Amino acid sequence: MRQEHLSSRVSSNDDERTLLQNVRHPDWRNPEPIDRYNLAIIGAGPAGMLTALSAARVGAKVALIERDRFGGTCLNVGCISSKAIIRTSRLYAEMRNAENFGAQVPTGISVEFSAVMERMRRVRARIGRRISAQRLSSMGVDVYFGEARFAGPEAIVVEGKRLRFKRALVASGARPALPAIPGIAKAGYLTNESVFDLTECPRRLLVLGGGPLGCELAQAFCRLGSQVSIVQNDPMFLGNEERDAAQILSDALARDGIGIHLNTEASNVRTEGNQKLVDLVSDDYKFTVAVDEILVGIGSAPNVEGMNLEAAGVQYDKEAGIPTNEYLQTTNPRIYAAGDVCSEHKFPHIEAAAAHLVVHNALFWGRERLSALPIPWCTYTDPEIAHVGVYVTEARAKGIPVKTFTVMMHDVDRAVTDGEDEGFVKIHVREGTDKILGATVAASHAGEMITELSLAMNAGIGLRALARVNHPYPTQAQAIKMAADAYLDTRRTPARKWLYKQWLAW
Ligand SMILES: Cc1cc2nc3c(=O)[nH]c(=O)nc-3n(C[C@H](O)[C@H](O)[C@H](O)COP(=O)(O)OP(=O)(O)OC[C@H]3O[C@@H](n4cnc5c(N)ncnc54)[C@H](O)[C@@H]3O)c2cc1C
Repeated sequence: MRQEHLSSRVSSNDDERTLLQNVRHPDWRNPEPIDRYNLAIIGAGPAGMLTALSAARVGAKVALIERDRFGGTCLNVGCISSKAIIRTSRLYAEMRNAENFGAQVPTGISVEFSAVMERMRRVRARIGRRISAQRLSSMGVDVYFGEARFAGPEAIVVEGKRLRFKRALVASGARPALPAIPGIAKAGYLTNESVFDLTECPRRLLVLGGGPLGCELAQAFCRLGSQVSIVQNDPMFLGNEERDAAQILSDALARDGIGIHLNTEASNVRTEGNQKLVDLVSDDYKFTVAVDEILVGIGSAPNVEGMNLEAAGVQYDKEAGIPTNEYLQTTNPRIYAAGDVCSEHKFPHIEAAAAHLVVHNALFWGRERLSALPIPWCTYTDPEIAHVGVYVTEARAKGIPVKTFTVMMHDVDRAVTDGEDEGFVKIHVREGTDKILGATVAASHAGEMITELSLAMNAGIGLRALARVNHPYPTQAQAIKMAADAYLDTRRTPARKWLYKQWLAW
């Protein structure tokens, strides 16, 4: 269980106070419930808030219940906080590399960690203004603060008030999964719920877990001055990604100076003075690293406890969360679930798609399916690794014939001028057609570039049409057009070439 709610921490500066005013106003008074809500939502993270907003926009009577802070993990201890410090860490990496760009910066750049964290809090407070309880309330959503519990299949109780509903959405999110490593609890460790409260940069940091969270924060802290090691129990980082993308990331982390331990597990932790000694095992090789802090990023556990889901007839699993069908209905078809409490892919923009779907399906008898949407995602390391649609291995396992068009970033002019020529764009099409099935981009701005491919997949646009899209020159996204051009080249069969030759003989 989460040991403390975020708002119980003392806010130590103006930005934190501004954030709290918006995401959990200290004087908030819950409204009186109306007779029956069209939609009652548990959790005001991205999934709950976006659904509440969409439902209110179409005129539905909506109740939104939050036990802690508006914005959930994403705003308070996830995407926003991490991206803010990643931005600063990239800047430091660029400054250290300035000479390669013909620029001079003073030697011995020193990082002022507290200023980095202050900026992060400023950014968080600014974004928090858009995500305020007051704003949602002014848009017609009844906002309740307190722990929500089902009191049967048609009612939720919060702070002694009974909210009756026609439809409900459980968007209670997830919390960091805790490691079962002997000694680690006693020695103490950080998770995403505490790492953004640090006021000093740990001199030596061990990151447990080589997924997106572990890789992003390992690189960021390394660039901010920590001596970082990362431990991953798989043979590569980012378990699901294409091997060559994961390899590019591994090389990049090693170049930054991060100690990389793949195929490795932590078996024990103990303290010695102020330091933590972590025993690591890789096959038969055992060794110990001494660090000042351990950051755990080994996945998440769904928030399913305490809501009395049994009373509502909603089945759940403590590890896998709430099972839903493709329309996001739980085992009680009038109750939906969305976001990290149930999703396989845990990203807020999936929550945006899910919000639209829940409103459509729950309030208007729609039959939209989440699986019908191509969903892109990105790991914001340097270079970034982004993906949409199927992986080659997945397609092959399903017996779908695939052809891949690859462009290396070192062949893309803008990537070369920017000194960001590492990586590739890979687009997979169904063999013999130009239909895009999936794509992986490993590049400095992969997160921006994948959107074009996502749009193409969403709109059913193939590589033939993409080849005709003019891209401003020079841009890194031109790699996508180059891949599309490569597809066109394959359409120029010897017979067609012969015909062109005859025609042009005049
Ligand atoms: C470090 C980190 C970085 C990340 N970076 C990215 C990124 O760059 N891009 C990206 O796409 N994703 C990122 N993510 C993932 C993203 O944050 C989550 O996918 C997203 O926050 C999930 O939204 P949600 O609404 O499902 O749940 P949450 O954001 O967890 O919100 C759930 C809310 O429900 C409330 N709640 C729970 N139980 C109850 C109850 N009984 N009563 C009332 N309220 C309740 C909680 O307090 C919480 O506010 C990151 C995550 C982390 C940890």
